[in-house]
Amino acid sequence: MHLSQSVLTVLGTATQVSEWGYNAHDGPLLWSSLNTIWGTCRTGRHQSPINLDNRVDGVVLGDTNEYHLQYASPLVDVPFYNTHHTVKLDVETNSKDSTLTFGGAIYTLESIHFHVPSEHQIRGESSSMEVHLVHKSRTPTPTLAVIGFAIEVSAGTSNAQLNTILSRARDAQPPGSNAGFSFPILYLDTIVQHFKRNLVYRYSGSLTTPPCEENVEWLFSAEPLAIDIGAFKIAKNVSGSNLRYIQSNPGVKNVLQEACSRK
Ligand SMILES: [Zn+2]
Repeated sequence: MHLSQSVLTVLGTATQVSEWGYNAHDGPLLWSSLNTIWGTCRTGRHQSPINLDNRVDGVVLGDTNEYHLQYASPLVDVPFYNTHHTVKLDVETNSKDSTLTFGGAIYTLESIHFHVPSEHQIRGESSSMEVHLVHKSRTPTPTLAVIGFAIEVSAGTSNAQLNTILSRARDAQPPGSNAGFSFPILYLDTIVQHFKRNLVYRYSGSLTTPPCEENVEWLFSAEPLAIDIGAFKIAKNVSGSNLRYIQSNPGVKNVLQEACSRK
């Protein structure tokens, strides 16, 4: 029994060596050195998040006419997970009718997750939270498109559909858990409408987590969504802090590589 426990302890430690997180010992500054396949986190020149500002080359602010966003309403049987890096809605199996179409490609909604506080900045301003709606196109090659929104805590009107999701964050369990929680039905209509009626920042960036893969199309709403303070406190308590620091502007030398090259 003791031997088994020792083996498990060693295996557990070995597993954690390649794991990443948001702490001093495994956080964003160290991701590229935790695993050799995550080198793009240190060398990539199109990394995310960034400070969104259309005065910067590679960042465009425009209306949403060219983006066709259509989600099933409601989505049904949507699992809500706590991955220990974020709380995440896995909508992959139910997303056949939930698509983002632009640039001749059709992207299918796969998952939705949250960051506390925000990762992107809008003209230098951070927010309380951020939500990422991850879409994937399978043709001609697998490509990701992420719709992002800043989320601000509001003492007044807030987005009821966002409140519904995040007020259940305590019920989100690790993937595969028997105690997993699913939303029987889930409406995202008001979030879709918010996207359509506001300007959007567009740029080519990356995943904000390892492996920091690039060629991710980012569409980031210029206007934050609003969340009720009660739902925010629940989500913040479950999520903890899970943001990557601001990256160099598109096409510019990676900020980590730049920092390491200076004396
Ligand atoms: Zn994210």
